[in-house]
Amino acid sequence: MPWVHLHVYTDGKVTPCCSNFLHYGRVNEQSPTAIFNGRPIRAFRLRMLEDKKEKRCQSCYQIEAAGGKSIRQDTIERYAGQLPELLQNTDEKGTLKGGTPLFYDLRTSNQCNLRCRTCYHGNSSKWFKEAELLGRTAAPQAKISAFEKISCADYIAETLPGVEEFYFAGGEPLMMEEHWQILDQLIAMKKFNTLLRYNTNLSTLQYKGRNIIPLWQQFDHLALGISIDAFGAAGEYIRKDLRWSKFMENIQTIKTLLPNAVLRFEPTVSLLNIFRLTADHQQAIDQGWISPNAWHLNILQRPDLFSIQTLPAEQKRQVETQIRTFLDRSDSVLNNSTKEAYEGVIAFMKQADLSSYLPAFQQEIIQLDQLRKESWADELPELSVLMPAD
Ligand code: SF4
Repeated sequence: MPWVHLHVYTDGKVTPCCSNFLHYGRVNEQSPTAIFNGRPIRAFRLRMLEDKKEKRCQSCYQIEAAGGKSIRQDTIERYAGQLPELLQNTDEKGTLKGGTPLFYDLRTSNQCNLRCRTCYHGNSSKWFKEAELLGRTAAPQAKISAFEKISCADYIAETLPGVEEFYFAGGEPLMMEEHWQILDQLIAMKKFNTLLRYNTNLSTLQYKGRNIIPLWQQFDHLALGISIDAFGAAGEYIRKDLRWSKFMENIQTIKTLLPNAVLRFEPTVSLLNIFRLTADHQQAIDQGWISPNAWHLNILQRPDLFSIQTLPAEQKRQVETQIRTFLDRSDSVLNNSTKEAYEGVIAFMKQADLSSYLPAFQQEIIQLDQLRKESWADELPELSVLMPAD
């Protein structure tokens, strides 16, 4: 990662990736070129070259140990061709001669139009009012933005010619001014071969009167990771403010107008959807919404109260059986990577016993149900095994 990538988080910190919060620098203090050869990233490169384990890379190591594919492995795979030259251009101080990022992961603000149960104000401006009521705001105002002194477009401009890939996440990238500015910049430069990757809730294709489709149609490579944790009313319950019918309409629009776009559903695997995960996957295959392996499992790591490690032992056994039955039944259509991802879910779930967080989970569900005037029993009745008896 430190040879190709910079991750900009909503608070303005620049880090090695979305899971490692080693502080490289801040966008309001240093240019991306300075950060890309600054002291922290050079030291990090040297540690990697010495094959030393980096404690902040824990979440990748954990996913790998559980049999899953980590961001680290995924990135190394994509940039394998360039790595020998990058390593050759790295001197004994860890400086990458002439190096600028090939790949940005930008989370320029927490601007979002949803307030998912497993999310929080730091990642969603829409969470702000409820966070205030619950006393857990991440800042005194709804919007938290990485770029205060300089626009994102100006900030990355000097490195833009060398960029091969953007990953836009959030918040919701389609709700972010910065994302639209970068696309306009890339189009002005005719950099149509830039790989555009997203994590989007796909709840809307519009922003301030503009439609994203004509912009996306100009690029050669578009990959949409679509966050959807459950289907129908259950999805609307977990991902508050999502309208399922609009979401499905947007999927259809993309399939029709962007036939070459790579689409995959990316459920965040938590206590909320673990019992229906394989049934939803099956439904997505049966309905032809996605191809069988366009199903990427993001295992929720934080907060603990939503982690599948919080399941009691009996429910862990039940989930494991459910997954194994699904894998057996779908053996001929699932590839190794999808099967391994499910194995990763089982391994992660069994790796630790966090069942002591169950009361906190129950309290969170009840508290938010009261605030939102809705009920888990209506939309996720399978949670009854985890909730207190009336
Ligand atoms: S769509 Fe993403 S950023 Fe928005 S509330 Fe949901 S999880 Fe958070």
